[in-house]
Amino acid sequence: MIHQIRQKRLLSQLAKNTLVIVSTNPEQWRNGDVHYPFRPHSDFWYLTGFTEPEAVAVFSKEGYSIFLRDHNPMREIWDGKRLGVANAPQTLNADYAYPISELKTQLPQLIANATTLYYDFKPCALDDEIMACLTTTKMQSLGEYLHEMRLIKDENEIALMQKAADISTQAHQLAMQQSKAGIFEYEIASIFDANFRKNNAEHAYTPIVAGGKNACILHYIKNDQILNEGDLLLIDAGCEVDGYAADITRTFPVNGRFSQAQRQIYQIVLDAQLAAIECIKPGEIVTKPHQITTKIIRQGLIELGILQTDGDLSQFYMHGTGHWLGLDVHDVGRYKQGEQHRQYQIGMVTTVEPGIYIRKNDKINPIYWDIGVRIEDDVLVTEGGNRVLTKNLAKTINEIELLMREK
Ligand code: MG
Ligand code: MG
Repeated sequence: MIHQIRQKRLLSQLAKNTLVIVSTNPEQWRNGDVHYPFRPHSDFWYLTGFTEPEAVAVFSKEGYSIFLRDHNPMREIWDGKRLGVANAPQTLNADYAYPISELKTQLPQLIANATTLYYDFKPCALDDEIMACLTTTKMQSLGEYLHEMRLIKDENEIALMQKAADISTQAHQLAMQQSKAGIFEYEIASIFDANFRKNNAEHAYTPIVAGGKNACILHYIKNDQILNEGDLLLIDAGCEVDGYAADITRTFPVNGRFSQAQRQIYQIVLDAQLAAIECIKPGEIVTKPHQITTKIIRQGLIELGILQTDGDLSQFYMHGTGHWLGLDVHDVGRYKQGEQHRQYQIGMVTTVEPGIYIRKNDKINPIYWDIGVRIEDDVLVTEGGNRVLTKNLAKTINEIELLMREK
């Protein structure tokens, strides 16, 4: 039902006599006869709810046509049951269903009846087939409309995102409690694997489990080093539930006690993060959180003598403060409208994730070397301001130290 509502809303915004084509992802080879686990394309999933590979949805004034793999007894012995063409109209609420093998013959007829065609090319096995059917029909980008819809989450989507946030929160808590010197980053990573699988969820992205100086490598995913006494551990991990992602980072001491220097850096990032979250409400400009975090972090680093008054902050804080979150971890939706940065609206979900990363540097007091701290929460814009979907996860120094003592 939700998919029909989305289809109708999309079509109502488009030109009359329009054809919309949306294809899903191709399967990806891993090695030999093995594929990576299949994950549908987010646009296709959002509009159809259909999770099999090799499918194309076409929407027009004639109705909703789905092209999909038909039954194949031999393949189904190996790979599992397929929905099949005969079941598709009822299950997917489609008006027509065709085997994907008929795409090349059916699509030209559908295109011939339309004056405007909306399609976004993506690295899709079917791109060539769809291309071959294109005529001189006026082509337009679909994402401009569809991605604006995806940016504003409905109740159903928010419930899934809350579930992803809760499962991820639980895994982060376990990781904090099981952390100790002498074990390996992958042992902590396995807590996330187990907790996500146990809840029938997947990793929304490759987790970062970075002890000590590894935290200063922003996309550290090797996760294969030992955790040392006295180091911090930065974990950026979140699961996805029915496609919807959580994206959480916490940084905590491997042994459960922040050192003085770690405490100082951590508190600056925390103050910046809390102030940035505080500003998020309908009507606020989306660049405001970054303005706030850079100001607070700059000031804090200057006070500690780490940054010169006119110094370059990007040596210590080199990424943005947040991104849209949804079916994609870095979700779709524009940050600007025309030349202007847009404002927050009810139903948007953004991450807030400032950080400080201090590499070995002779100009800086060695007590701060190799400290990398990021704190990331997922924030839903609501009528009254915002709701932090990940608020149950320990975040202040006291909360973290207390949780880590309760082993
Ligand atoms: Mg993250
Ligand atoms: Mg993020």
